[in-house]
Amino acid sequence: MSIGAFLARLPVTYVLIGRILRARMVCATIAENHDWVFMANEKKGTILSGMRPTGPLHLGNLVGALVNWVALQDEYDCFYEVADLHALTDRTDTSAIAKDRIEVLLDWLAAGLDPERSVLFVQSEVPEHAQLYTLLGMFIPVSWLERVPTYKEKIKELGLGESASFGLLGYPVLQAVDILIYKADAVPVGEDQLPHLEMSREMARRFNYLFGDVFVEPRALLTKAARLPGVDGRKMSKSYDNAIYIKDPPAEVEKKVKTMFTDPKRVYRRDPGHPDECNVYFYRRLFEAVDAEEIYEDCKNARIGCTDCKLALAKALNVYLEPIRRERAALSERPDYLNDIFDEGARRAREVAERTRDEAYEAARILREK
Ligand code: SF4
Repeated sequence: MSIGAFLARLPVTYVLIGRILRARMVCATIAENHDWVFMANEKKGTILSGMRPTGPLHLGNLVGALVNWVALQDEYDCFYEVADLHALTDRTDTSAIAKDRIEVLLDWLAAGLDPERSVLFVQSEVPEHAQLYTLLGMFIPVSWLERVPTYKEKIKELGLGESASFGLLGYPVLQAVDILIYKADAVPVGEDQLPHLEMSREMARRFNYLFGDVFVEPRALLTKAARLPGVDGRKMSKSYDNAIYIKDPPAEVEKKVKTMFTDPKRVYRRDPGHPDECNVYFYRRLFEAVDAEEIYEDCKNARIGCTDCKLALAKALNVYLEPIRRERAALSERPDYLNDIFDEGARRAREVAERTRDEAYEAARILREK
């Protein structure tokens, strides 16, 4: 799908994100505006979501998930997990994980997640996840897991071949446990993640069928956040080396923006541009204060060159990121505070997780009768 077609499909509400960003508000303030959160009128319940600690977060994480998470804090009881066990499913080098857990937390807090309102925790620090994973895994047919398209894709993408781990195969079981153990009513997902959520629902149904109603089947809380392309136009990803990071200093942002792919049909400055096919236009539409129509017309009529256009984008991104970067830098000076957040998050998460684990073990008649 071309960028133009993609933009055309964006709801007006999503365009509002751009307006919000342009107002130079930090995410904490953005969180107060629920206009663009799909299904924001839902009755308050519990949601669970997580991110793998694979390094600092990028703009795609921010716009595609984090801004929404911040907004959801006002409507739901939120459990946000640093999914460090999930990060082990496709690697054997674990040396950076401890540091990356903190990187993720820094980005979360700087973007507006509030440890008073949400439970921010590390997956491996809530051992009930691993315990329930073991139990649930006993009742999930391997054929279900082997059919998951991302399992085969990942093996191919990473060239794992015969060395693909049991953990990679069992990833959907652990993912289901993450949700089910908090009896989450809803999970914020994009449409592309619906099959994964459906699998968790199937696992809940299977366990409930075998042992009685223990788990809640979570529903999808569909978010309309767009997937932000990387500077090369592909999906923004660390592995593609095409990401702009939340913590990137201004000069780095500018350097990356200068490398962005633009309209391939516009060879000379005098050539009319095709903004619908330009990555830079996509970004400017989201992040700038000027009317998108004006940018569109300037490009189409060759009133602006691509170099100036990119500079304008770099400036807008830096204006937007500045308060977040500042907050992030200040928080990074407070390691004890960060550790306390994870300690308290694990404590609060375990209160719920322990109950569900016991319920499940009891239902499966594993607990010793007292
Ligand atoms: S002027 Fe801007 S929007 Fe138009 S092609 Fe160049 S970079 Fe893209």
